[in-house]
Amino acid sequence: MAFMCAAGKHRRASRMKRGTVRAAGVAALTTTGVIGTLAAPALAAEPAVEQTGLTPVITIGDSIADEIGVQAAAQQQAADEAEAKKKAEVAAHMKALAEVQQARAAKARAARAEERRRLNAYVAPISGSYVSTGYQSSSSLWSSGSHTGIDFHASTGTSVHAVGSGTVVEAGWGGAYGNQIVIRMNDGTYTQYGHLSSIGVSVGQSVTPGRQIGLSGATGNVTGPHLHFEARTSPEYGSDIDPVSYLHAHGVNV
Ligand SMILES: [Zn+2]
Repeated sequence: MAFMCAAGKHRRASRMKRGTVRAAGVAALTTTGVIGTLAAPALAAEPAVEQTGLTPVITIGDSIADEIGVQAAAQQQAADEAEAKKKAEVAAHMKALAEVQQARAAKARAARAEERRRLNAYVAPISGSYVSTGYQSSSSLWSSGSHTGIDFHASTGTSVHAVGSGTVVEAGWGGAYGNQIVIRMNDGTYTQYGHLSSIGVSVGQSVTPGRQIGLSGATGNVTGPHLHFEARTSPEYGSDIDPVSYLHAHGVNV
């Protein structure tokens, strides 16, 4: 709405001008009785810019102010909605991130559990073999007269595995046992592997279940190639325990 106002003087002219127009209209009605001519004389009285030198300014009427208020409210609402949407997006992103991290942690836990399980598991010293001579069987072959371990059928050069996790405490010549390896197991027991054709580990080395530690053979006091295996309570000869029960207690059936 444009009104004519004195330069530098911003006034809210609408009410007064409308009042003037209305008064003029009423006056016109009184004198002429013709409603159609009401506004014309008053509007004609408005001076043109060229004539007065007044500068047109923009004033804000109540309806426009209301409209702006509504627009402002709408803009505020839009801003609030945008803010809420952004917050929801951030929250969703954080939730997804947390889920990824949780899944990653669960996977890591499962991997650690699987690794613990693997390290605690036991395997047979010779894969797919069988016991050819039992524990404590009698023979003049053995100095004690009784077998201190079990023999696994195995031709020379067969892979020999550590039955579980442990540390090598002996690796070398063992007299009647030929080339032998003794491992201190993580549970404090010992396992011994005899008559090897070759030794693949050294003292102090850590081994895990199934780790190849050497190859079977016929070294020492033997009549033919096989693996002599003992379970012991100490690294020394004579501390042997039943190796079949020992392996069975660790989940290995032979
Ligand atoms: Zn034997």
